Amino acid sequence: MNESKRAVVVGAGFGGLALAIRLQAGGIQTTLLEKRDKPGGRAYVYEDQGFVFDAGPTVITDPSAIEELFTLAGKRMSDYVEMLPVSPFYRLCWEDGSHFDYDNDQEALDRQIHARNPADVAGYRQFLAYSKAVFEEGYIKLGAVPFLSFRDMIQAGPQLARLQAWRSVYSLVSRFIQDEHLRQAFSFHSLLVGGNPFATSSIYTLIHALERKWGVWFPRGGTGALVRGMVRLFEDIGGRIELNAAVARIETRGDRASGVRLEDGRLFEADTVASNADVMHTYARLLGQHPRGVSQAASLDKKRFSNSLFVLYFGLDKHHSQLRHHTVCFGPRYRELITEIFGGDTLAEDFSLYLHAPCVTDPSLAPPGCGAHYVLAPVPHLGNADIDWDVEGPRYRDRIFDYLEQRYMPGLRSQLVTSRIFTPFDFRDQLNAHLGSAFSLEPILTQSAWFRPHNRDADLHNLYLVGAGTHPGAGVPGVIGSAKATAGLMLDDVRAYGKARAIA
Ligand SMILES: Cc1cc2nc3c(=O)[nH]c(=O)nc-3n(C[C@H](O)[C@H](O)[C@H](O)COP(=O)(O)OP(=O)(O)OC[C@H]3O[C@@H](n4cnc5c(N)ncnc54)[C@H](O)[C@@H]3O)c2cc1C
Repeated sequence: MNESKRAVVVGAGFGGLALAIRLQAGGIQTTLLEKRDKPGGRAYVYEDQGFVFDAGPTVITDPSAIEELFTLAGKRMSDYVEMLPVSPFYRLCWEDGSHFDYDNDQEALDRQIHARNPADVAGYRQFLAYSKAVFEEGYIKLGAVPFLSFRDMIQAGPQLARLQAWRSVYSLVSRFIQDEHLRQAFSFHSLLVGGNPFATSSIYTLIHALERKWGVWFPRGGTGALVRGMVRLFEDIGGRIELNAAVARIETRGDRASGVRLEDGRLFEADTVASNADVMHTYARLLGQHPRGVSQAASLDKKRFSNSLFVLYFGLDKHHSQLRHHTVCFGPRYRELITEIFGGDTLAEDFSLYLHAPCVTDPSLAPPGCGAHYVLAPVPHLGNADIDWDVEGPRYRDRIFDYLEQRYMPGLRSQLVTSRIFTPFDFRDQLNAHLGSAFSLEPILTQSAWFRPHNRDADLHNLYLVGAGTHPGAGVPGVIGSAKATAGLMLDDVRAYGKARAIA
């Protein structure tokens, strides 16, 4: 019945791709329009002199949500991409020289926790039990359900209250765990989705249970190989993707979206339209000619947006076998630094870093004997800190290289073959991200679920959002969950609208 129906999805990030696959598999002829020359969005890929750099997501969790996309399209994920387990999940390092290997091995975890503070072994068990309860409630039950009415929120209220969702991640972790380093080890996760552990709802501790349940994975060939696999799947089932196709506006007719117009003037008419682009960009620019766009943009302007990131990609003529695949390098300050990242107006002198060394799992990402890496530092977004990244970027790169060379990668500078940086300016200019935010709206309780921009627009009845700016939020599992929520609405609405028109 839907075969004659057409959908357009703006933006080929993980959310847009997952949605396009679901719509196409549901029988709607779907076109995916992406402004850049490659798909993936934040999961873009740079290649240089034999080095392959995944630009963004590298910690792939909940592979079952990705597999579901292949299954519902009648295909096998293993025919498209191979997922490799990563162990340890992360190595967490502190400046006092100590480290903690966070993994799924309970005995090894207990041993390491005991070495730091024996009382925390029992505390960790309690924390894990709490995290599992939030995971069941927040991820399994509500992670892919669209919160369209306040009633949905009220229904979830008692559970959220029981789980003390008003508390912050850090405060919840501190209830169970005494050692400061362990508190950091079990609270930093919300940073992966743009959440300040001192402000973000304790619901986000569910990431811990999610990782313990399904593990941490890395696609062979890098995250880019997963993106390519999803694009191939989409095309194999008849979907169409256009790259270098920047959408200039969403066209409307009455209270409905009628299609989109590209910057080059081409018009794509559609029965149903979804945007995976930044939410502010969607309303302020793509829908700027419509009163709904103007009012939503004004309302979004009052919201809090997540921090930005400074990302430095570099290839070395040496493989640093002392590294683990994922390393978190905690700096001298935790709470103070995070406060400055989320609310400060300058760049802090110190930093905490995430270091990616994918050749540990897949050496094919660099020439033989070499290493491809990236390191990222959370930094304030452009609305908080007026930093000229064209000037500061190269300086910041040098400071980070010095730090890594001193503490983690001896000889780094002399081994350097290639490097490039991605600053908050690039998030703004290349990804159309409001204020250069790396994760869209900050995931605080008052900007979550019903309080987040909805998966379906309230006024334009066939316009939808998918990706980090809508429910449930940022992170690969989050945006893939958002695609499930949004696709469910779109497929139902197309069917219902078709029926109503047939009767009329
Ligand atoms: C450096 C970094 C590391 C991260 N690491 C992890 C991790 O390890 N694990 C994890 O789970 N999450 C991670 N995240 C978060 C995760 O990557 C994102 O939340 C997620 O990928 C966002 O997906 P999205 O679907 O919202 O779309 P995006 O990836 O934001 O894609 C949106 C797309 O829309 C396109 N677009 C914008 N405007 C237009 C227009 N006008 N016309 C056409 N196209 C347009 C953009 O070019 C882009 O391709 C990381 C993020 C970053 C930045």
